[in-house]
Amino acid sequence: MSQMIHLSAPDVGPLEEAYLIAALRSGWVAPVGPDLEAFEREIAARVGTRGAVGVSSGTAGLHLALLGVGVRPGDVVVVSTLTFVATANAVRYTGARPVFVDCDPQTGNLDVPLTADLLRHLRARGERVGAVVPVDLFGACVDYTALEPVCAEAGVPIVEDAAEALGATHAGRGAGSFGQVGVLSFNGNKVITTSGGGMIVSDDTALLARARHLSTQAREQARHYEHRETGYNYRLSNLLAALGRAQLRRLDGMIGRRRQLRDRYAKLFAPVPGVTLIGADDAAANCWLTSLVVDPERSGWQARELADHLAERGVETRPVWKPMHLQPAYADAESCLTGAADRLFAHGLTLPSGSALTEPQIGVVLGAIDEFLADRTGSAAR
Ligand SMILES: *Cc1c(COP(=O)(O)O)cnc(C)c1O
Repeated sequence: MSQMIHLSAPDVGPLEEAYLIAALRSGWVAPVGPDLEAFEREIAARVGTRGAVGVSSGTAGLHLALLGVGVRPGDVVVVSTLTFVATANAVRYTGARPVFVDCDPQTGNLDVPLTADLLRHLRARGERVGAVVPVDLFGACVDYTALEPVCAEAGVPIVEDAAEALGATHAGRGAGSFGQVGVLSFNGNKVITTSGGGMIVSDDTALLARARHLSTQAREQARHYEHRETGYNYRLSNLLAALGRAQLRRLDGMIGRRRQLRDRYAKLFAPVPGVTLIGADDAAANCWLTSLVVDPERSGWQARELADHLAERGVETRPVWKPMHLQPAYADAESCLTGAADRLFAHGLTLPSGSALTEPQIGVVLGAIDEFLADRTGSAAR
C-alpha cells in the first residue's frame, strides 16, 4: 500500500471476501449465475426501477442505453460538458455526434434552461436529437423536476448518466430511475465497486431485454452459435456481481461516512471567504466526491496552491473534470456554453472523499488544509 491519501479508494473488507469466496465455491465463476441475477434485482429495488442489466462497465452501459433509446448514426446527442469522457465516448460509439451543454455554476449539473434553448435550436436546424444525457455530477442528481418536462416536450428521451450517483435521490426518487433509462458504474473509485462493472436500470423491460441480448454478443437461442446482428461482450461476471452484492449491503454506511467527511470540510471552509463546496446544499446527494470552488479575488489564493500544499503532505486532490468542449478528442464538437464549466475547471478542486479513509488519514487532510489556511489568512480557520 502506498502512503498517499487517495481521493476515493475502494472500501472492501471481510463481507466482500465472504461473498467472493462463496461465489467461487458455488462453482458459478463465469460468466453468469445466481449472484448476477440477485445483484440485478437488488440494484433495481434500490434504485426503484422494474429491472436492471449488469454490464462490464458504466461506459458499456451507456453505449447499450443509447442504442436502447434508438440513437443511431447521424443523430446528435446533448451531453453535459462537465463530465468524465466516458459519457461522450459512448455517444461516439453509436455513430452519433455529441453536442455539449454547459452547467449550473453552483451544482455543476447540466443547465436546464440552456438545454431547452439548445433543443429548440437543434430542432429548428432540422437535426434529429437522439437523446439528452444529463450527468449526476459527483453524486448529486440533476434537477429532473425541471429537465423531464423540457425533454418530454421536445420528444427526446433522457439517458441518465448516474455513474457517480448510486444511492442519491431527487424528489424522493433514486438516481438512475429518471428518464427512459439510467446507467450506474461500479468502477474502483465509485461509491460501491465490483472492481469494474456497471448496471443499466429502467422500467422499460423491452429495452432491458434488448440490452441484455446485445451484451452477450447478440447470441440467439440455439444449440449452435447463431447471431443475426452485431453484439458486444459487455456482460458483468457472476463473481464480480457477488462482490457488488456485499458492497450494496454496506452502501448506506459508506454514504454516511462520505457525508460526514463532507460536513467536516464544510465546517472547515465555512469561515473562509471565497470558498464554496459544489452542490453541498443537496441533502439527498450520495457525496461521492467533495469538491470546492475558489474565487481567488475573494480568497487571495488559487485552488492549485492548495493542491500543491496537500500533495507535499501526501494528500491526493484533483481538478474538477476537464469539460468535454476543452478536450482535444472533442475539439470538433459543437457546444452551447456560458463559461460555468470553464470556471469550475479553473477554480475547482476535488478533495479526498472515500469511505475507507481512516480517522488518522482524515486528521492529516484536515490538518494540512488548516495549516494552508492559517498561512494564507494569518489565522487558523478552526
Ligand atoms: C465513472 C463514470 C463513467 C464510466 O464508468 P466506467 O464504469 O468507469 O466505465 C461514466 N460517466 C461518469 C460521469 C463517470 O463518472
